[in-house]
Amino acid sequence: VKATINMLNKALADEYLAANQYLAPIGLAVGKLRPEVEAEFQKHYEEELKHAEMLKTRIIQLGGIPLMSPEEWYTHTNCGYTKPTDYNTKVLVSQNLESERKAEDVYDAICKACKEAGDLITFHIARKIWEDEQEHEQDLEDFLNDMEII
Ligand code: FE
Ligand code: FE
Ligand code: MG
Repeated sequence: VKATINMLNKALADEYLAANQYLAPIGLAVGKLRPEVEAEFQKHYEEELKHAEMLKTRIIQLGGIPLMSPEEWYTHTNCGYTKPTDYNTKVLVSQNLESERKAEDVYDAICKACKEAGDLITFHIARKIWEDEQEHEQDLEDFLNDMEII
């Protein structure tokens, strides 16, 4: 259970940072499909927060304490944080795409570990989030494809 709590807390750090990586550049973006990209970033921001909420709830159910401070998010994250410095939509979308792919690997690993440990409740939570991350990845790939064409 301790190992599961630890894994979930690392994923929680990822979700808080991912949420901010989507939120931070909204209002600053420039370039192709700007309104569409910003609207999707807003949606993904809210979805990453929902993931954080799901993880936080499960950590508490397992008797753990969710990470509470940005300092801890930085020391525990798997996926890291890419500070947006170039506000071109192509760059912003690419950076978030990179983070989504890392997140998918994280949830893949969590699902495998939970299955082995026989923790089916956490397994289902991680699989649901994993599915969402795959959708996020697809949305961002679609943007990059559309940008090449337009
Ligand atoms: Fe997420
Ligand atoms: Fe995501
Ligand atoms: Mg989406």
